[in-house]
Amino acid sequence: MSLLAERMQRLSVAQTLVMSKKSRELREQGKDIISLSIGEPDFNTPDFVKKAAISAIENNITKYPPISGFKELKEAISNKFSRDNNLNYNLNQIVVSTGAKQSIINILLSILSKGDEVIILGPFWVSYFEMVKLADGTPIPINSSIDDDFKVNAKQLKEAITDKTKAVLFSSPSNPSGAVFSGEELGDFAKIIARHPQITIISDEIYEHINYNKEHVSIASFDEVYNQTVTINGVSKAFAMTGWRIGYIGAPQCLASACEKIQGQVTSGASTISQMAAIAALKADPKETHYMRQEFLNRRDIMFDLLSDIKGFKVNKPDGAFYFLPNISYFFGKTIKGHKINDAQDFSMFLLVEANVALVSAQGFGAPNCIRLSYAASENELREAVRRIKSAIQ
Ligand code: PLP
Repeated sequence: MSLLAERMQRLSVAQTLVMSKKSRELREQGKDIISLSIGEPDFNTPDFVKKAAISAIENNITKYPPISGFKELKEAISNKFSRDNNLNYNLNQIVVSTGAKQSIINILLSILSKGDEVIILGPFWVSYFEMVKLADGTPIPINSSIDDDFKVNAKQLKEAITDKTKAVLFSSPSNPSGAVFSGEELGDFAKIIARHPQITIISDEIYEHINYNKEHVSIASFDEVYNQTVTINGVSKAFAMTGWRIGYIGAPQCLASACEKIQGQVTSGASTISQMAAIAALKADPKETHYMRQEFLNRRDIMFDLLSDIKGFKVNKPDGAFYFLPNISYFFGKTIKGHKINDAQDFSMFLLVEANVALVSAQGFGAPNCIRLSYAASENELREAVRRIKSAIQ
């Protein structure tokens, strides 16, 4: 007899974590592993943000917070939404949570009943799929390939909608592909979804500031879907604050209240110290962190040239985030250095063992022909990683 709930059988372990476990084991054996599997900026949190947290501790801002977040933080978020995204959210439409991850599960738990379908635009972030299952929903991924620059189109979206569709979930800029939807593309999605008022759009904009070419557009800024959209954002990627665990939503008021209700029973709100740090981050001039975007852009261009030069790698140039998603199906069916490569998981394991480079198979991200590699690493590490990959597959 199992001690575990049936729910646990539905839940998969993130492949990213399987990979980090294996790399840790190899490191413990003394291997020099270059990790390109991680989804977090390699910068430190800016000093002005750290100072705000220190001052919060010194001023004893250490009691339970209001469940949906401090008023001052919600004001900073509301101003940020209108400053950067042309969106007006009142304070009762904003909920601060323990990371954007919690913001997403709060919403899914608020809207899904058993059997409700959630369309996920692929390739997608692995956690979307599992969170939908955790909330009793049915994930309906729509795939796109490198030839479409990893972008689902309006026709595909239209065809995927059924009577059971309760939500459409996506990130732009995207993890894992770096694809960024243009205003025109989002406008087309908005027109389609507006015809189905039972559908909630969950728009994950956590990589908003890591966007190189296009202007960032929030789908909620299209009037016809404003009342159907939950805009997800946070400070993790924009301010190199992954460990502070602050995410937030702007949403129709009834959904914001539902998230607050869940949070009231589950966490009692996000850390007070992190909230004070997030106020400093969000009030700052966005130019304060442009150096990170510039650095990511330099690395993207370097990596694009390096990866394009590897035989068997098909690469596109991503417009945002800090990932590449090369198609490596060329290697399927081949045997290299005694390793039979049947799929992307075999290929990433081969690179870990033979090149000592850790990256992840994109099977769980809805891109079975691809591997995802993050360029949130130093230029030296990136160059060395590519040198090792080339020499392993020679
Ligand atoms: N959304 C996407 C697309 C992500 O890639 C991540 C983290 O990797 C998150 C959300 C989680 O953000 P947070 O650290 O705020 O929970």
